[in-house]
Amino acid sequence: MSASVYLDYAATTPVDPRVAEVMSRYLTLEGTFANPASRSHMPGWQAEQAVESARRQVADLIGADPREIVWTSGATEADNLALTGYMRANRARGNHLVTSTIEHKAVVDTARALEREGVEVTWLAPESDGRVTPEALRAAMREDTVLVSLMAVNNELGTINDIAALAEVAHAGGAVFHTDAAQATGRIALDVAAQGIDLMSLSGHKAYGPKGVGALYVKRDPDLRLEALIHGGGHERGMRSGTLPTHQIAGMGEAFVIVGREHEDDQARITALRDRFLAGLEGLEGVHRNTATAHSVPNILNLAFEGVDGESLLMALRDIALSTGSACNSASVEPSYVLKDIGVPRRLALASLRFSFGRFTTEADIDRTLEALRHALTGLRR
Ligand SMILES: *Cc1c(COP(=O)(O)O)cnc(C)c1O
Repeated sequence: MSASVYLDYAATTPVDPRVAEVMSRYLTLEGTFANPASRSHMPGWQAEQAVESARRQVADLIGADPREIVWTSGATEADNLALTGYMRANRARGNHLVTSTIEHKAVVDTARALEREGVEVTWLAPESDGRVTPEALRAAMREDTVLVSLMAVNNELGTINDIAALAEVAHAGGAVFHTDAAQATGRIALDVAAQGIDLMSLSGHKAYGPKGVGALYVKRDPDLRLEALIHGGGHERGMRSGTLPTHQIAGMGEAFVIVGREHEDDQARITALRDRFLAGLEGLEGVHRNTATAHSVPNILNLAFEGVDGESLLMALRDIALSTGSACNSASVEPSYVLKDIGVPRRLALASLRFSFGRFTTEADIDRTLEALRHALTGLRR
């Protein structure tokens, strides 16, 4: 059998070879390896220049000013900084945070930690299509609400929230709006001004850049203050200390340039692949779509397979790299909290798999996956 088919782009993407090539220029003695905070020599200035050029590249993709980009180790850290940093810095103005139950764990667990610090959190329930409505948010807003955090694209379902409408409700209630856009870059258009975004988390490795780097967009506004979580040399205007990883940052910058240039072509191709996959599924019995495809990015498809167990199906599909929506503890398998909260019955949630496609997915990959699915389902249901 040839190498496995990779259909787990929502977990991480491979680094684009063009990105890897750029990154390799910032590592060795011959390259631009110096500390970008070194002010006393030319190599340091050159490294700083590389960082600042990438800052502009990332800012350009989202319509921001480069001074509004704070480098972090990923979207997880950006989410932590946005929620904890903002709630702690604004305690005097209010102590209420609104988010949803189907956010990524980086937001859910941060909000839970804030609850233990005494922050009051309202957990919005999504509709059955995986979206949070502006009406639900409006009903949750209070006098003391200072922050609303709702994701742009859900990582398990691929569903897209109406960020602009949600931001408008947050602002009308006097709160700041944060969105986790880790799954959104390259999938939907992002424009911080048009969409009313005040804080936005970004990740390198969900968009063909390297792992271990991300950014928080922080709107330039004297009223928008964050308390740092990582203290040190005062890098990133005091919001996030630590020597900047030039190679990671340059890689994320190049990845975002490519996304900006090619995402329309990528998305058109991926939509055609997704539709080929959906057409092929028509021949299979008992397949349910957990993803509401009318409101989703084309690269993520969450499906339930009646009458089988997700773990067994995953095992039978061992040549296809996929995710289940469940969390395995040593003792038991719990269905995904996202599927549970959009109302997927436990039996089907435990029989669900997430298929996610990307830039390097081919028609042959889709056909091989369909064939493997046909084979596995027949075997397991017999
Ligand atoms: C992957 C992901 C994250 C975490 O990003 P890292 O850069 O891996 O820390 C956060 N939110 C969403 C929606 C994601 O998909």
